[in-house]
Amino acid sequence: MQRRDFLRHGGLAGVLAAGAAPAFAQSQPEVKWRLTSSFPKSLDTLFGACDEVAKRVAAATDGKFQIRSFSAGEIVPGLQVLDAVQNGTVEMGHTISYYFFGKDPTFALDGAVPFGPSYRAQVAWMHQGNGLKLTRDFFKGYNVYNIPCGNTGTQMGGWFRKEIKTVADLKGLKFRIGGFAGQVLTKLGVVPQQIAGGDIYPALEKGTIDAAEWVGPYADEKLGFAKVAKFYYYPGWWEGGAQLSAYVSMKAWESLPKSYQAILEAACGDAHIDMMAKYDARNPQALKRLVSTGAQLRPFPKPVLEACYKAAQEVYAETYEKNPTFKKIHEDMLKFRDDSVLWFRVAERTYDDFMTSVKKS
Ligand code: CA
Repeated sequence: MQRRDFLRHGGLAGVLAAGAAPAFAQSQPEVKWRLTSSFPKSLDTLFGACDEVAKRVAAATDGKFQIRSFSAGEIVPGLQVLDAVQNGTVEMGHTISYYFFGKDPTFALDGAVPFGPSYRAQVAWMHQGNGLKLTRDFFKGYNVYNIPCGNTGTQMGGWFRKEIKTVADLKGLKFRIGGFAGQVLTKLGVVPQQIAGGDIYPALEKGTIDAAEWVGPYADEKLGFAKVAKFYYYPGWWEGGAQLSAYVSMKAWESLPKSYQAILEAACGDAHIDMMAKYDARNPQALKRLVSTGAQLRPFPKPVLEACYKAAQEVYAETYEKNPTFKKIHEDMLKFRDDSVLWFRVAERTYDDFMTSVKKS
């Protein structure tokens, strides 16, 4: 349309009224997908990401591309999201990749590994470093196209019935913690326990377990751990910036028009920011409430963190021997993490330290 005609037809409103713009949408196919999540609806920040993605995709395609979300167990059990996407039972999944650590520890590099990057460094590694390329090469072997879709930030270290004052206090500790961190802590005498979210509280209450880690103040408060294990430790060094991921079956991904692919990636990017924003907005109030009702905040003593770090290096050395793909991606990630730590200690940390210490008027 010539500029003169455009003006005569009343600008964009005229174009829409004349039906010229919807021609784009009319030429696009109707697509209906099913998305299965690893999380129950009650975990609103985690499950909520699916609805955010679906809403944005529908809005950007005039409702032509519809994604219907199912919570864990509705059509696929929470820990079988990878299988369901890989074999095409569903077109899409939403999960955290370390759940599939047992298939290959390399999965965890797309989620979180002990002493891995913080949220900011993880995002930078994925989008400006080699993270996205390296993990996508790996996921291709599982017929999956992975898209970062959420982050929890640095998690808390969990709820303990007794204080951890020395490394020796870890010995014999029955701790609900999984995957890589469980392997690391085994070296220090911890007995890791795999328990689903809903079963943690009764196990802690009965004393079947001595401690449990979950996410952070907002998510932990909902499960009520403070009533049965009052020592609330930090930081969760096994999840310095735990990343959630959308999995798309490669066949479904390749069948999408380029415009839908771009819209889906953008929607996941929005949901990614939205999740971190929700945690950052809700954790401060939740932490205040937890402390006011009796939770005792404790940092892990430095010698404990150092012993865990050393044990992690042993687990990594063993993993490297068995798994060259893990080694290649992990080493790339560590180089990025170390540069990031170096930079963040200059401006960001100095600023944070000052703002923590200054008297606010
Ligand atoms: Ca956790």
